[in-house]
Amino acid sequence: GERLVVVGASLAGLRAVEAARRAGYDGEITLVGAEEHLPYDRPPLSKEFLTGEVEPNYFRDEESLRTELEVDLRLGTAASELRPAERTVVTGGVELAYTGLVIATGARARELPGTPALDGVYTLRELDDARRIRAALGPGVRAVVVGAGFIGSEIASSARAAGAEVTVLEAAPVPLAGAVGEQMGAACAGLHERNGTDVRCRATVAAIEGAGAVESVVLDDGTRLPADVVIVGIGAVPETRWLEGSGVILDDGVVCDETLNAGFPGVYAAGDLARWPNPLFGETMRLEHWTTAAEQGGLAARNAIHPEQARPCATVPYFWSDWYGSRIQFVGVPTADEVRVVAGDVASDSFLALYRRGDHVSGALGLNQRRPVMKLRALIGKHGTWQDALDVAAAG
Ligand code: FAD
Repeated sequence: GERLVVVGASLAGLRAVEAARRAGYDGEITLVGAEEHLPYDRPPLSKEFLTGEVEPNYFRDEESLRTELEVDLRLGTAASELRPAERTVVTGGVELAYTGLVIATGARARELPGTPALDGVYTLRELDDARRIRAALGPGVRAVVVGAGFIGSEIASSARAAGAEVTVLEAAPVPLAGAVGEQMGAACAGLHERNGTDVRCRATVAAIEGAGAVESVVLDDGTRLPADVVIVGIGAVPETRWLEGSGVILDDGVVCDETLNAGFPGVYAAGDLARWPNPLFGETMRLEHWTTAAEQGGLAARNAIHPEQARPCATVPYFWSDWYGSRIQFVGVPTADEVRVVAGDVASDSFLALYRRGDHVSGALGLNQRRPVMKLRALIGKHGTWQDALDVAAAG
């Protein structure tokens, strides 16, 4: 019979299962996940989960997975091999035959090379990481966050809310330059300053020191920062180790075509590890955004069960980030001929900036500007003009 195998039981994997059933798929579905946990939401892990005694946000309970979605659920077991010529995945020593496969093993936290194994040094990707970090934070705790990207910034904001003294170290001259451009990266960094977080740019970590537990972070200029807890937030690496030698092309992610097909019949990829040519922009992308993972999970499953009707993944990148009670949102792509602030003021907690390429709008960044940002996402998806974007911004 037919069997859809989904590897990776997180956002993209779960959305794949749901979409297959919604499309009327009545074959078997096996969902394989390395973590012991039922699928849960990651964004809260660096936000409210770190500051309060909130429960993890599980997307569904086990009962609804097994009965409503009729999933053969295999948690706490990692896939170790893909044999696309045999249409087989190996997981926990067991061979699983598939007719369709969705690869959704996401990403893992990037490690800082040379980091010693000391108590109090963490990265954040999984629920278990967040539990450890939450337990280590508290009033007066000296926290050093390595990396002023979105996750590092959210951790800094949450650590402040938990009463910690926070220093953020960023190697680049301006934080977030790759994500939102230099001008707006600097504008976002202003939020840290206004909320009492010390951000040091051009700061490179030379060593993390301690005996048993962490004691300090040493910078390459010799500065020594005392630390009770160090959280390394320097990005994520696509989790493709299990695919090495499979024949699937790996290049900072799983290389896919427009339909997310990974080069073999029935094999599709979705979420943080998928690298694909986005027809809306004529650019190859790999995004680490919640919304893309959800969209791609659904599309990859539909394409895997009906390859003859496979549809391209055309999407406008979108992500949000919450710092100090403010919401940052970005849509589109950040490389532009011009970035113009069209509402509010970058020195305040509300502004809207538009990104222009030629006569078109290519991106938008909002701080506490939810409505216009979502309208601009739709406009960018329709290749809207710069003037259209200015009109949307003026309408608020
Ligand atoms: P993942 O969520 O990484 O899931 C992959 C799953 O596959 C994991 O459970 C992993 O254990 C499992 N796995 C790995 N290898 C194997 C294997 N060999 N076999 C079986 N299973 C395996 N995005 C936003 O847009 N806004 C935000 O505010 C935001 N906040 C975030 C905060 C944090 C702390 C983190 C970590 C991410 C955040 N993101 C945010 C990004 C968003 O959560 C990710 O884009 C999304 O989780 C990607 O989903 P995914 O299913 O592709 O991968």
